[in-house]
Amino acid sequence: MYKVLVSACLMGRKVRFDGRAKTSGHPVLERWRAERRLVPHCPEIAGGLAVPRPPAEIADAAGAEAVLDGAAAIVTPEGQDVTAPFVSGARAALETARSQGVRLAVLKDGSPSCGTRSVYDGSFTGEKFVGPGVTSYLLSDSGIPVFTEDEIDAAEAYLKSLEHEEPEEPEIPYWG
Ligand code: SF4
Repeated sequence: MYKVLVSACLMGRKVRFDGRAKTSGHPVLERWRAERRLVPHCPEIAGGLAVPRPPAEIADAAGAEAVLDGAAAIVTPEGQDVTAPFVSGARAALETARSQGVRLAVLKDGSPSCGTRSVYDGSFTGEKFVGPGVTSYLLSDSGIPVFTEDEIDAAEAYLKSLEHEEPEEPEIPYWG
């Protein structure tokens, strides 16, 4: 069965910087949970950050690729550089995805880790720029498509297309 990496906060885990969850409750996610298809993961916790923690944003529009290349930083409102745990968390997410047979991800948009379509712009004013967070970028760049919490129907359609194109191995009967 193909697995789906999902932002832990979308599944009700209180791992966000403010100690809250962002529970989705989408019926497709609930069905995937019942099928044991989901791999909930929080890259920021995996990277060693605590709950609660200061908010953080990618410092400039150079974006996630520049962060992973060491050319841009992720910072708190006080200017503390927290790039290292974010990069470490992104790599942990990729490692988890590969070890669990994950074929796609559903991640919380807007986050400097999990954002996919847009992320906050480093000004801490609520402004965003178009582009992914570091985990989303690394997964996509490694061949794992990422969908936001608003694209779960598209994620389901993609998963169905995968299963249609690549039927899983039939169970080998045990003949004793
Ligand atoms: Fe949710 Fe991702 Fe932020 Fe963790 S890093 S709290 S999973 S959006």
